[in-house]
Amino acid sequence: MIATVCPYCGRTNDRHMDASNRGAMPKRGDFSFCWNCRRFAAYEDGLDGLVCRALTADETELSTTDPYFLTVTEAAKIVMSPTRAVRLIGEAIAEQN
Ligand SMILES: [Zn+2]
Repeated sequence: MIATVCPYCGRTNDRHMDASNRGAMPKRGDFSFCWNCRRFAAYEDGLDGLVCRALTADETELSTTDPYFLTVTEAAKIVMSPTRAVRLIGEAIAEQN
């Protein structure tokens, strides 16, 4: 389990669920979605392991246009629990492939 702090709201997030590969751990370059403030962040290497940083301008633009980001955003609006959202996202990804 990796604990990271959301760069926007400061919440410590220590649950990671990957909708397309259950059980996968986050790695540098992956994106995180904070269930508290509903914003995306990016994983990068910190001094003691992975940390989350705010998105760059390009990544912010991507998060408003890329189908995967939009699927995550829509799922977070529809359901109240992260587990159900991940299930919904996984189903959406399966339909797209
Ligand atoms: Zn947050």
